[in-house]
Amino acid sequence: MLNDIGMSPGEFDAAMHLPHASEDFLTLAMLSVGIDPDSFHTMEFARDHFMSRTCITCPHRHRCHDHMQAFDFESHYRDFCPNKDNFSKLLAKRCDA
Ligand code: SF4
Repeated sequence: MLNDIGMSPGEFDAAMHLPHASEDFLTLAMLSVGIDPDSFHTMEFARDHFMSRTCITCPHRHRCHDHMQAFDFESHYRDFCPNKDNFSKLLAKRCDA
């Protein structure tokens, strides 16, 4: 599973000490910005761009969590989210479809 998301066991251990380590922010973030996390295209893109790894090792998980709680992630994530460019690409491709 770690190989699938491009992480070593050591990186994963370190990430487990970050805030809210057990929460899946990637799925919540996708839903928040209007991306279907379950579409084949999204899952393929996320895997190819190591989006799970970026989320799991993200230094902004606490801020991310606060915006998720406030339901305003979509209007603030561009200021801090390391996956923001990937979300933009996914949103752009959705418009192309
Ligand atoms: S800020 Fe972005 S990369 Fe970081 S945990 Fe939230 S959704 Fe993931």
